Amino acid sequence: MSYKLFIPGPIEVSEKTYKAMTTPVFGHRSPDFVELYQSVQPGLQELFYTKDPVYLSTSSAWGVMEGAIRNLVHKKVLNVCSGAFSDKWLDVSKRCGKNAEALQYDWGTPVDPADIRQKLSTGEFDTITLIHNETSTGTMNPIAEIMAVIREFPDVIAVVDSVSSFSAVKIDKDALGIDVLLTGSQKALAMPPGLALLSVSERARQRAATMPDRGYYFDFLEFHKNHEKGMTPSTPVIPLIFALRSKLEDIFAEGLEARYARHERLNKLVHGWMDKYGLETLPPRSHASKSLSCIKNRYDWDLPALNAHLKTHYKCVIDGGYGKIKGKTFRISNMGDETDETISELLTNLDASLEALSFTRS
Ligand SMILES: *Cc1c(COP(=O)(O)O)cnc(C)c1O
Repeated sequence: MSYKLFIPGPIEVSEKTYKAMTTPVFGHRSPDFVELYQSVQPGLQELFYTKDPVYLSTSSAWGVMEGAIRNLVHKKVLNVCSGAFSDKWLDVSKRCGKNAEALQYDWGTPVDPADIRQKLSTGEFDTITLIHNETSTGTMNPIAEIMAVIREFPDVIAVVDSVSSFSAVKIDKDALGIDVLLTGSQKALAMPPGLALLSVSERARQRAATMPDRGYYFDFLEFHKNHEKGMTPSTPVIPLIFALRSKLEDIFAEGLEARYARHERLNKLVHGWMDKYGLETLPPRSHASKSLSCIKNRYDWDLPALNAHLKTHYKCVIDGGYGKIKGKTFRISNMGDETDETISELLTNLDASLEALSFTRS
């Protein structure tokens, strides 16, 4: 049974993207592969706003999130924590045997650059991890202000996760001074899961070169050595690279500015719907994500029942909250290929479902 996903990942994948994946594969050491790999680089560099290479990793985002820790953390890492994914990054750092400390916020509280300055001023840290768009809480952190502070500390390598914001909003990697910018395929890029993308600065590669125990699969130097030949270290998920090539065509056909504007507009449609019900986002609106909405369930609506109704009657689902705020919040994605029509239709279907289930507003 198929139904449309308005959850914040994996999200709806277009027919065109699925179709691209059925292109017959070839050897990953063949000239055909090199051509495919190199054909996506210019578009990726444009999307990442970088002159650095963009590596393709056959893994979900966590692979390269863990890899970044293993490649970069010598002294100590500051993991900025404010939701399920960022909190877990601290845990992953520790599991890699690294000296790690949290800069902890309550879920839904945006990151304050001044706190980062205070922590980094101790001189204890050589690496910082930050999630730009904390998907679990629908919070979009002020990346420009945060990066301006981090760049006051030239020895600190900055690793930024843009899994649910990449290509939905502009993140100018080089201008902001981000060392490692990473994303995954199944969220803002609207592809099936299984591919992670990361762009690594030269100074981050230089740090990696001094690191023992980087392992093999996510070794930045292996990625780079192979990149120079138009290849990946091991056999990649070639169908997803076909999907990526197709997706880049779509993105540039629409135009980057138009794409960002569309995400902003669709996000506002969801906020407008919330206002009708007196609903609020978990973070302050000023820092609410532009690619999804994490909404406080103030009327204690039975979210599994709401979703069951949506699925049965309208062949779509939203998300009933993540981690410790499951049930207390619900989330609606406007990432990827959503349009004014698809989001408006979802909101109409939500209205009808709330009515049919006699869910009240008090
Ligand atoms: C989903 C998500 C991840 C983890 O992605 P996987 O594909 O499960 O590895 C990491 N960071 C953010 C912000 C996410 O939304």
